[in-house]
Amino acid sequence: MAWECGIDGCGSVFEDVESTVVHQATDHKRRECEVCGTVVPDGYLAIRHAFTEHSRAEYVRAYGASSEAVREREELLEEIESVADMQTIAAELKR
Ligand SMILES: [Zn+2]
Ligand SMILES: [Zn+2]
Repeated sequence: MAWECGIDGCGSVFEDVESTVVHQATDHKRRECEVCGTVVPDGYLAIRHAFTEHSRAEYVRAYGASSEAVREREELLEEIESVADMQTIAAELKR
């Protein structure tokens, strides 16, 4: 299965999810979390931060997200978490 980077219409396609996440974290600008101001890599890791560090209500308030947008992101997180090797990603990002 191919994975496509969805940040700002980037559209880069990767063969595995780990490469996609590493691409998002290294080739795109980091962004500030709207809830706590922490600078996090864009893409999956930004979503992961928002949904693991903050409650859904905080996310909705800070980002003005609809419940549908929240659900989409939660589904994406679950999907990626089920296939991604976070250790591979962490190791890649440390290089
Ligand atoms: Zn990209
Ligand atoms: Zn945050």
